[in-house]
Order: sequence, then C-alpha cells, then structure tokens
Amino acid sequence: MDRLPSHAQVIVIGGGIVGSSTAYHLAKLGYRDVLLLERHQLTSGSTWHAAGLVGQLRSQAGITELLGNSISLYNRLEEETGIATGWKMNGGLRLACNPARLIEIKRQATTARSFGLEMHVLTPQEAQDLWPLMDVSDVLGAAFLPSDGQANPSDIGRALAKGAKDNGVQIFENVEVKGIRVQKGRVCGVDTANGSIESEIVVNCAGQWSRNVGALAGVNVPLVSMQHQYLITEAIDGVSSDLPTLRDPDRLTYYKEEVGGLVMGGYEPNPIGWAEDGFPENFAFTLLDSNWDHFEQILSLALPRVPALENAGIKTLLNGPESFTPDGNFILGESPEVDGFFVGAGFNAFGIASAGGAGQALAEWIAGGEPPYDLWAVDIRRFGKPHQDIGWVRKRTYEMYGKHYTIAWPNEEHSSGRPFRQSSIYEALKADRACFGEKLGWERPNWFAPAGVEPSDEYSFEAPNWLAHSAAEHQAAREAAALFDQSSFAKFLLRGADSVKALDWICANRIDRPVGSVIYTQLLNKRGGIESDLTVTRIDHDAFYLVTGTGFITHDFHWIDRHLPKGMNANLTDETENWAVLSLMGPNARALLNRLTESPIDNASLPFAHSREIEIAGVHVRIIRITYVGELGFELHIPVAHAMSVYNELHRAGADLGLRNAGYRAIESLRLEKGYRAWGSDLTPDHTPLEAGLGWAVKLNSDIAFIGKESLQNQASSGLKKQLACFTVEDPSITLIGRETLYRNGQRVGWLSSAGFGHTVGCPIGLGYVRDPKGVDRTFLESGTYELEVAGLQVPCRIHLEPLYDPKNQRVKT
Ligand SMILES: Cc1cc2nc3c(=O)[nH]c(=O)nc-3n(C[C@H](O)[C@H](O)[C@H](O)COP(=O)(O)OP(=O)(O)OC[C@H]3O[C@@H](n4cnc5c(N)ncnc54)[C@H](O)[C@@H]3O)c2cc1C
Repeated sequence: MDRLPSHAQVIVIGGGIVGSSTAYHLAKLGYRDVLLLERHQLTSGSTWHAAGLVGQLRSQAGITELLGNSISLYNRLEEETGIATGWKMNGGLRLACNPARLIEIKRQATTARSFGLEMHVLTPQEAQDLWPLMDVSDVLGAAFLPSDGQANPSDIGRALAKGAKDNGVQIFENVEVKGIRVQKGRVCGVDTANGSIESEIVVNCAGQWSRNVGALAGVNVPLVSMQHQYLITEAIDGVSSDLPTLRDPDRLTYYKEEVGGLVMGGYEPNPIGWAEDGFPENFAFTLLDSNWDHFEQILSLALPRVPALENAGIKTLLNGPESFTPDGNFILGESPEVDGFFVGAGFNAFGIASAGGAGQALAEWIAGGEPPYDLWAVDIRRFGKPHQDIGWVRKRTYEMYGKHYTIAWPNEEHSSGRPFRQSSIYEALKADRACFGEKLGWERPNWFAPAGVEPSDEYSFEAPNWLAHSAAEHQAAREAAALFDQSSFAKFLLRGADSVKALDWICANRIDRPVGSVIYTQLLNKRGGIESDLTVTRIDHDAFYLVTGTGFITHDFHWIDRHLPKGMNANLTDETENWAVLSLMGPNARALLNRLTESPIDNASLPFAHSREIEIAGVHVRIIRITYVGELGFELHIPVAHAMSVYNELHRAGADLGLRNAGYRAIESLRLEKGYRAWGSDLTPDHTPLEAGLGWAVKLNSDIAFIGKESLQNQASSGLKKQLACFTVEDPSITLIGRETLYRNGQRVGWLSSAGFGHTVGCPIGLGYVRDPKGVDRTFLESGTYELEVAGLQVPCRIHLEPLYDPKNQRVKT
C-alpha cells in the first residue's frame, strides 16, 4: 500500500457509492487534494448487494432535482469512465389497486408535472402491455415514469471511484478511520491504524456505520441498520431486458429485470433490525442469512401479481443490511455539532438512485459553505432532541420502514415513540379532547373534538373528518378568541454588547430599534435565499429574544451561531424549554386580557409588533403583540412552571367572551387567508424575500451590510423571474394539498407551495410561485388566466396579490 499522506484538503470516509460519488464531484469541482479512505474494499458495504432500481419522484422539488441529477450522471458515466454500469433508462411503473391509491398516483403524476418530470397515468391494459407477465385483474390504474431506470450498483460505484481517481482523488482501501480529531469545535483530521491525517474537511459516508463514525466526532447521525430481502430468479420466459422496473405498493413489492429473470423484494410491515448491539468485525461483502419465514408474507403478495414466479427457479433470497432513518429521508450536510464535518448517509434503500445527485450536492455544499439549493428534507439540521435517543430513533425508523409503501396521506401523523415531549398544559388540552400531532418529539394539538367525537384523524384525499371541528376553531379566532398552545416554538436569547451589530449582519430587516420592538425578519444565504423566517424581540439594549418554528430549532440555532461575526460580543443560548407559549388570538383577546392584568395593553401602550413584560393573573409574562392568523393577537411567553395557572385563568376569564382552544390545523387555514408565508414550503433557501413579496422587511435601502444583500440588489435591478401569489378555487369540493401544477394562459408556470381550505372565505386556497424566465411583475401576474392541475384535472382558479382576508376592513375576497 502507498504511504498515507499526512494531510489532505478533504477526507471522505467510506468507499460505497455515496463516498465515491462525493469524491468524484469534489474532484470535478477542482479539489486537487481529496483522499477517500475505505475500511475494506470499495462497494463492500451495502452498495454491492443493492437491487439497483433507480426512481426519481419525491414530494419535494429539491430532492426530485437531486435524483434527476443522478440520472443525468448515470447517462454519461459509462462513456466517461470506460466502466460498464448496467445503467438503462427502461422506465418505472407504479400500480394502483384501490381508489385512494389511484388518487395518490394521479396526484403524484401532477407533482411530477409540477417538477418538470414526464409521468403518465395508464390504464391497467396499458400497464400490462409494458409488463406482460403481470396479472392486472385487481389493478385500477398505473403511473409510468419513462426516465426512471436501473443499474448495476457495484459497477456504478466502481465507475464513480474510477472517475474520481482519473480526476486526482487518492483512494486507499483497507484503511479504517478509528478516530476523528476536533479542535475548538472544528474538525482537523482523522486517526487510522496506519497513521493520522490532518484535514480541514472530513466527510462521513460510512453507510450504516455512519452513526458510529459520527460519534467519534461527537456528531449525532440518527440511523439504524435494518434487514432487507429480495429474491433473484433464474431466467423466466417473457422477461425482456427492456422491462420497466415495477412497484406494486398495495402488495408492498418491487421488481426489476436481471439477466432474463426477476429481482423481487418488498417492505414488510414488521421489519427486523440488525446489529442493535454493534457490528460484527470485518463485515464486508457479507450477507445475512436468508429468512424465508419472514419473506413468506411478501412472496404470498407477489405470486398473484406475477404467477410466473410460482414455477421460476430461485437463485437466492438475498438478505442485506442497510441504514434507515426515522423519516425515510437520507442525511446530508455539515453537522451542526462540528464545523467542517459533513455527512452523507442513511439512504433508506434508495442510495443507488440518490448517490449521483447526493454526492454532487454534498460536494457543492462543501465548496460553497451552504446547500446549493433547497435540501431541507434531507438536511442533517432537521433533527432534534428525539433523534439523540437511539431507542426513539429505532422505534420511529421501524414504523417508517413498515410504511414505505403505504399511502402517504395529507396531514399524516406517525404513532411510534409518542409521547416524547409534552408542553406543561398537555393534560389540560387532552382533557379538552385534543387530537395531537407530533413535531420534533413535541405533542401539539392539531384540533379539538367536541363531545361524542373521537379525537383521532381519519385520513382522506377529500374533506377529512376533522375539517368541520377545525373550522369552528377558525371561526372562534375570527369572531371571538382562540387559545393556541405554541410552547414548542424554538426560542433563543442573543446577549452581548455587539448583539445589534451581529443581528444586523445576519438579519435582512433593520434591527436597531427601541427596546420592546418586535422585528419580523428573514435570515438569508449568500444567494439571497431565505434560510429562516422568525421574530426578533429587543428585550434590552444588548439582548434579543428570537422565536422560530418548532422544527427549525437545530437549523436556525446553527445558522445564527455560525454566522455571528467572529470576535463580536454576542452569545446565543437556547431558551426553548424554559418558556411555554400561549397565543391568544381574536377580536376579544384584548378585552379578555384586560380582565387579568392591570398593565395597559391598549393600542397606544402596546402597538402591533411590540412587547413588554406584564403581570397576568399574578404571573410575570412576556407579552408579544404579533399574529400569524390575521387577528388581534398576543403571544404570552410564560415561565413553564406558571403556564398551567395562566391557562386556567385565561379560560375562566374568557368563557363568556367565546374563548376556546384551537389547534395547528386552524392556524394553517387562518394564515393562508391572511397570506402569511410558511418556511419550508413558501419560503425556502431557493426563494428571496423579493420573490416572496417580503421586500418590505428588507433593509435594502440602508447602508447596513447583511448576508445576501448583494444578491438582492442584483435581483432588484435585474428584475424578478418568479413571484409568490395566492390562488383560490371556486369549487369548495376541490381539495388542495400542495404541489398542484399551476398554469398561466395554458403554460406551466409553477406549483402550489402550500395549500388548504379557508373557512372564512369558504374556498380552497393555495400559495405558489409564478415563474417566467422573461420576468414576472404585477402586470404579468394580473394579466394571466390561471388553472391548477389537481390529481390530473384542470381546475380554473383566480390569482390574488392582496390578502384574502384582512380584519382591519373585514375585507373578504375570493
Ligand atoms: C437488499 C438491498 C436492496 C437495495 N436495493 C436498492 C435499490 O434497488 N435502489 C437503490 O437506490 N438502493 C438500494 N439499496 C440501498 C443501497 O444499497 C444503499 O443505500 C447504498 O448502497 C448506500 O451506499 P453508501 O455508500 O451510503 O453505503 P455503503 O455502500 O455501505 O458504503 C459505506 C462504506 O463505508 C465503509 N466504512 C465504514 N466505516 C468505515 C471507517 N471507519 N473507515 C473507513 N471506511 C468505513 C464501509 O466499509 C463501506 O464500504 C438496497 C439496499 C439493500 C440492503
């Protein structure tokens, strides 16, 4: 073996398909000093035994784009490297065998269209013409994606490694990383049995071993190993080499052609984990024992679909371990714990499909210091407290594996590992018949069931069982008062003499305002894209209280902490678990509070976007006058120990004012009517505040520098190519859930980033960006005629550039 160098610019750990792809793309980006270290031999982990199906469609545009990048790479890799990859674009079929599944595939075809992918809905006969061996007697329809395909996983992995080597990457096999060096929160090298190597960047692509490799650096990589089986048959008459891949989700199975026979595997509802007590030594090019008893349930579902399997010779039942994650998505990006330590792992049995695009995204992330496009769904910073508990991770991951092929319902919740975290008024909400949802381990009320109604969701692609009850909560907020438990909000404190200067650099909005001001702002990346959307309350001349969404705690804390200019006196701490938040919203909110406080809270004393500390029912509370529902509203930030008593007092004082508890589903309907945007859907790193219609919250005209300013200035002078607008559909029976394709004058111009039903305006509402490379302005927006594609149907809709509902003049517009 060549001697290991003592230094490398980037070290990639793991020579599976993902590590090889990352090294390949780093080299392509011009990195000349990249080292790939593989414990055994290239592809010897999960890669060599993958089935090799390559599908593309996901429910997030960014991840679909990433998978499309894989396909573009696989299309050219063989020619580029001279290594046969077995890649063929033979298309992918997905069957629907019940009415709900048919709606799901029709909605998926619409989503595909939104993201620019060709996907057709076929009749059972058309599907059978493409896949003659299958019985279609129970099939109602099918979706076909012509650009899906399949590959030989080891060969693709080797081709990527060869491409990396050809571009200067040094690859060392039989070198195990046994330690990661970290100094002052930044990675600085690795230790191996063959010596130590210094490096500024270390990338953990160690597959199912990534959790252990992460732990060497103090980084949490929440994944677990699971057993996954598929059958390989001898040649079967009628199996041609151009047979599309086939997914039969109602029978939990998938198929692909292999040497004239079939590969058939599936996702059983009762999966079996692996290596819970640690990995065996030297586990390389190794399989687990075939478990026929366990596979029986999959086989019995497959046989009626493909009767030829009955008499086919069986080569093997392959059982291979693979890493899975608690939300079914892989894990990408720079770890929040250690600077310079990146992760690309947890590929949930779609690592072959993802590797090309994931390696590219990771390399660009390393080079650019931020995700190259919206990768939130796979971002390592989406995790939080529950993901540090391996018992929780295991339970949720098993549930998600079992749901791999179940229908992905709108507003679906998961049941494992609950309850994990409760707010201090949880029991009271439960007693009031709350139906809870879960976000980052927190139990949060989604809606409240009246007496006689079961507080549980019944999923549907049409009006769900909770809609009328949520509508009543919505109405209370509009006409009287509603109380929302938002204790799960992430809350940070930034304190120090340089806090104003530091925040002015990080925030797009102007920060230096009087104590008591509440500033709504976005945090931007270098491209001007929105990394966070939050409120910043100045609580002292040198202290700010920041409130952001429950799910964004790790991401936003990391973003802010990372971007605080070096050397400034500004210290960020997490206050989330110290404060409960009760949001009192509605026209009667002030009258109610006046019954419980001596402090003046009239408009002059506490104007909109202002905050103070006051006594409510004898408890010291931070009151923030703000709203996300479009009504007079007050967020009460209460020390956790006192939340229950304030809650009781509010209800006692508010009973005759129409106060009732309300949940997150009502918030969604209320905020859509008021046109408030949501981060993660309407606001993402791919959209700027100017495109999102939030230019009013940007200090573009001041001389204060801030991250993203230059990009926004350029955009302001060159004009916008997309703009967010609101759309309504007249027919209240149409269900909008997001991702519906948007057409202007018959041309596809975008899709709905979020959607729901507006109970006050009485119609479905969606927000979405209208795109045009030639430019988008108000005249362009207003001059178009719009339609939405909803589950394959064209539905007329109207565009709105002002809020549909505004309490000031009670304007209701549809
Ligand atoms: C049965 C089965 C079927 C599958 N079918 C498909 C499919 O049809 N389509 C699809 O897209 N995906 C499929 N997959 C998933 C796919 O195989 C994986 O997602 C993919 O191979 C993961 O690649 P990786 O590079 O992350 O991990 P791996 O291939 O496991 O590579 C990780 C490497 O890291 C090395 N390593 C670990 N620790 C260290 C260390 N300390 N130092 C140095 N090196 C280290 C390991 O030796 C290993 O080689 C399937 C998986 C299984 C198990």
